[in-house]
Amino acid sequence: MTVPGKLTFAAPRRAKPPRHLADLAPAERKAAVVDLGEKPFRATQLSTHYFSHLVDDPAAMTDLPSATRDLLARELLPPLLTPVRHLTCDGGATRKSVWRLFDGATVESVLMRYPDRVTMCVSSQAGCGMNCPFCATGQAGLTRNMSAAEIVEQVVAGARSLRRGELADGPQRSDRISNVVFMGMGEPLANYRAVVTAVRRLTDPAPDGLGLSQRNITVSTVGLVPAVERLTDENLKVTLAVSLHAPDDELRDTLVPVNTRWKVAEVLDAAWRFADRTSRRVSIEYAMIKDINDQAWRADLLGQLLKGHLVHVNLIPLNPTPGSKWTASRPADEREFVRRRESHGVPVTVRDTRGREIDGACGQLAATS
Ligand code: SAH
Repeated sequence: MTVPGKLTFAAPRRAKPPRHLADLAPAERKAAVVDLGEKPFRATQLSTHYFSHLVDDPAAMTDLPSATRDLLARELLPPLLTPVRHLTCDGGATRKSVWRLFDGATVESVLMRYPDRVTMCVSSQAGCGMNCPFCATGQAGLTRNMSAAEIVEQVVAGARSLRRGELADGPQRSDRISNVVFMGMGEPLANYRAVVTAVRRLTDPAPDGLGLSQRNITVSTVGLVPAVERLTDENLKVTLAVSLHAPDDELRDTLVPVNTRWKVAEVLDAAWRFADRTSRRVSIEYAMIKDINDQAWRADLLGQLLKGHLVHVNLIPLNPTPGSKWTASRPADEREFVRRRESHGVPVTVRDTRGREIDGACGQLAATS
């Protein structure tokens, strides 16, 4: 693990997670199957079992001869996530899972069931190197990047749980995962290649992938400008969320330390280029911290920066984290902030924060085992 207290971009060198079907594009799967001495069509069978049937027991793949099944499962469907525990709240509609990875690193994911959708919040790194002082994940530093398959498997595991009825009953149409947000542990754009690969696996039509809509995937970032530019060039129709938290560099330098490298204006410029290219509304995340970033003048400054752009502001009442000296804004200050945002014509919502009681809300994921 790296030392907490400083920015870490490059992940420490560690043994790589085992190769998995979900790391590979469809053509690479065929090549891998052929390398193992099997017919290429076995790759499609395997993909159908994994992405469409969500199998986790190779014995269920009865259309494969047993020797082939054992070989392919061992080589291409290695177990990646071992459940440490599951915690539920909100009457069973929110479930946080703590997972142990092959090398003992732990990560968390959160499944949230709403009347009209089911959202899976996934981790993209074990730990995080961005060191934002109000976020629990940042406090322990970065352990390592996750592989694409480790990211995808969190969603597949959630989909399996829903299919098995492990979450509280909801209306029929929310028995499948509809949305994925990269808002768990880690800075997704610091693990760029694996995250983009995971987005493709999540959105490729079945059986090559899970078949989710790109529009229902949100990639959240502290604002790594070169990586936002790279993402813009992928032309993926995902939602980009920028964790801004302050409209001025002086404060943002302290709340989001990477701001010392890429300033508010540069981050927003990169976000607007993403919006122009993709026609997707950018989401600005703003944790409301009492007497720190919730003053009326900051609301006005934020309004000036965002006015006229394809943007939506998500205010997140600050969630408590261990050792943090900050708390959420007073309700009256929050209301005034919202009013000022709206007076600039910038749409704003206050996020209904799920999972606080189980340390599963924004900024609370620390995977202490
Ligand atoms: N590293 C990425 C992905 C994490 S998303 C990013 O920062 O965008 C998690 C979101 O929760 C981010 O917007 C983050 O700033 C916010 N957050 C972190 N700690 C929080 C806290 N204590 N209360 C509310 N939101 C928090």
